[in-house]
Amino acid sequence: MSQQTETFLSSVERMFDQAADLVGVSDGLRHKIKVANSTYTVRFGVRLRNRLYTFTGYRSVHSEHREPVKGGIRYSPHADQDEVEALAALMTYKCALVEAPFGGSKGALVIDPNEWEEHELERITRRFTQELAKRSLISPAQNVPAPDMGTGEREMAWMADEYKRLYPSDLNSWGCVTGKPVSKGGIRGRVEATGRGIQYALQEAFRHPTDIEFAGLSGTLAGKRIVVQGLGNVGFHASHFLSQEDDSIIVGVLERDGAVFDERGIDVQALQRHIVETGGVTGYSGYVEDSERVLTADCDIFIPAAMEGVITKDNANDIKAKIIIEAANGPITFTANEMLRDRGCLIIPDLYANAGGVTVSYFEWVKNIGHIRFGRMQRRQHESQTLKMVDAIEEMVGAKFPEKHLAKIIEGPTELDLVRSGLDDVMREGYQVISAKWHSDDRIPDLRTAAMMIALERIQDSYKSLGI
Ligand code: NAD
Repeated sequence: MSQQTETFLSSVERMFDQAADLVGVSDGLRHKIKVANSTYTVRFGVRLRNRLYTFTGYRSVHSEHREPVKGGIRYSPHADQDEVEALAALMTYKCALVEAPFGGSKGALVIDPNEWEEHELERITRRFTQELAKRSLISPAQNVPAPDMGTGEREMAWMADEYKRLYPSDLNSWGCVTGKPVSKGGIRGRVEATGRGIQYALQEAFRHPTDIEFAGLSGTLAGKRIVVQGLGNVGFHASHFLSQEDDSIIVGVLERDGAVFDERGIDVQALQRHIVETGGVTGYSGYVEDSERVLTADCDIFIPAAMEGVITKDNANDIKAKIIIEAANGPITFTANEMLRDRGCLIIPDLYANAGGVTVSYFEWVKNIGHIRFGRMQRRQHESQTLKMVDAIEEMVGAKFPEKHLAKIIEGPTELDLVRSGLDDVMREGYQVISAKWHSDDRIPDLRTAAMMIALERIQDSYKSLGI
């Protein structure tokens, strides 16, 4: 297949076909699962700067075998229908893999957010929300968007507020989107969830020495040299946690306007401040204009966290990273995936690796429809039970419980503790099942195929039980 035709969507479909062959999905069902159920295109006008501007938006629903369907909304000037459909399909497989009870969906608005003032973006976002609401493409019961590239808490708060205005009597209206600020029905730990999930995924991979040896590595994450592409929400949090908590060294960061390289390690917080202040990485110490040099630099782990189609058959042979963890969706094309795998690169695939976002979105949606913060009922009960236990231990051993441990153990878990615990559990278990599947059969070439197979087996079961 030539590079021209190896689009994001065709890559996802080829990965799907490879897994479907191994699972043995019947032709009819295979086609039903593979294609998007529907994709809605809307063109709406907003009067701004004394003239009318027309914007194009998409919301694709890939599979409704479970509802609501779930998936982010991105703001990007390059978004198109194919991209949105590929992303929606990945959401279906991702949710099935990590057992989030949703079908897959994805949306986009064709816009460069940097070209608009905040108050203008708010009007555009509210109009887009009205268009989506008209067709139940935003609804706590049917379709629940979340942040993605170019969107964040701010846009989700506008969307939730607009939905509440349209449906004031909907008791569950906060659950119409996830990734909201905590003050607007969000959950603690959602902003950093995808980056945190990348950290947990890598920690679990390093608990599987056979997998790490496949990539020619050993030991722990400490001292491993990492290159990150995109210091946005996902890339920043992943690299911040890995450098601060696992002692990995961030040697390279690629951004839109070039890259930064420093063998001694980059302070990603300082670099992020520089990006916010100046609009890019240009001028930062270690700046390299030609990003390709940093993309192909010698390192242990590469974290693509910007966009799709970054590693293709044209540059796959130049990539030196031993492990690639796909924080972004679709950063490696189908052919590049085969080339990298064949030379012993361990690829931790997007449908598992970046599932931290949808996992914590799931917790947020449950919090919204449950109308109660996690941990609220149990904390004081945990405290009184633990104090009783401490009293009993002191009585038995005839000594005081060490003060330095007491405060920590009597405090019950906060919402953030519970979110982190749930996320860590999902990421650990997710890696364990895909690694076990990969090693269970010589015909399964990699973690990606294994992950896709598990997702497909679950979706197939769900369709069969529906009688379709
Ligand atoms: P973001 O907009 O916060 O960050 C993207 C970053 O990539 C920005 O810093 C941007 O400047 C940079 N970038 C853009 N084009 C680039 C280029 N050509 N070269 C280098 N850097 C470039 O977006 P995000 O939310 O962090 O999402 C990043 C990726 O992660 C996307 O593929 C998205 O689909 C995926 N993802 C995000 C989430 C989430 O919770 N936000 C969840 C799952 C997957």
